[in-house]
Amino acid sequence: MQFNVAQLLKEPTGAFRRHELIENLTGLDPDLRFLGPLVGTLQLLRTNSGVLVTGNFSTAVQTNCNRCTEPIAQEVRFSLAENFRPLTEVTTGRYLRPEEFEGEEEDLEDTALVIDERHILSIEEVVRQTVWLAMPMYPGCNWTGGGDCPNLIKRLSELDQLEDISFVNDPRRATEEEIDPRWAALLKLRKDAESQES
Ligand SMILES: [Zn+2]
Repeated sequence: MQFNVAQLLKEPTGAFRRHELIENLTGLDPDLRFLGPLVGTLQLLRTNSGVLVTGNFSTAVQTNCNRCTEPIAQEVRFSLAENFRPLTEVTTGRYLRPEEFEGEEEDLEDTALVIDERHILSIEEVVRQTVWLAMPMYPGCNWTGGGDCPNLIKRLSELDQLEDISFVNDPRRATEEEIDPRWAALLKLRKDAESQES
């Protein structure tokens, strides 16, 4: 996701490049588990202040259903439109002063939007931030029709069935015959005590 834009920066405003991207995103963010590459078309347009990056992209991220908490594959789609600025003048290598920057002030302060001294433009940080923004607030299992998540309904019914199962060693259900003989002696003592009290 790095592009050498030295040549593009030497060209007049309006020059552009187009790249078809199929980029592996593994390791981009420790909290994002990517299930597929970043796919899309990237345009790099020479502007008077630097390079305007635009494009439409998609990828897939593993997340959890907001209702049943099962892991699901979430498709993520987003578009980019960011102004990158060069740190140095491409012809001389001289560092540009902030006041020489002709774009928006907020673009000047964003370090993710800097083209470095080697004229490398990296979209990694912008992609990382945008994937987070493009993730749905409440991801859910994909199902058609109304009602609740079918996985959740299935899980709840499984829990209901669990409650009806009697455990072999469940002490609440144990009868005297099932009780461990070592405890039976103690039980007899308690019974004797109870009968004396009454
Ligand atoms: Zn679900």
